[in-house]
Amino acid sequence: MSDWIIRCFHNSKRSGAHLQRTKMKHFKMSEFKCDCGCGKVDMKDELLKKLDELRDLLGEPVTIKSGYRCLKANIECGGKTDSAHLDGYAVDIVIPNSRYRHDILSVIFKHNIFNRIGINRSTIHVDCDPLLPPRVIWHYYS
Ligand SMILES: [Zn+2]
Repeated sequence: MSDWIIRCFHNSKRSGAHLQRTKMKHFKMSEFKCDCGCGKVDMKDELLKKLDELRDLLGEPVTIKSGYRCLKANIECGGKTDSAHLDGYAVDIVIPNSRYRHDILSVIFKHNIFNRIGINRSTIHVDCDPLLPPRVIWHYYS
């Protein structure tokens, strides 16, 4: 279980700095760190609460493939310029098999946890960015 974490972050799309205090039941903040090596992690409380709720209801481990992304990391991975990862509103969750994909989506829909979902081969993207369109599911296949 993680400790109380007090985080001061600067919001890239919106102005102003915010002080937030989050206690997560199932995750450590290090799981959401930008993977470019910069070490930055500015996740939104709203997203972290939803993930804890999802993890509780699913009753299985939830592995984060990608959480916070700085501008550099987002460019490197080919992310969209308005990606919710830049603002700490998104995570990509590892999907080990089709049964897990079914069960996690089932919990998300049943409890209305996320309504912005991207389906990839071995991950799903979920976000709660208030500036992006709600009630969408997309895929990354060409
Ligand atoms: Zn970075």
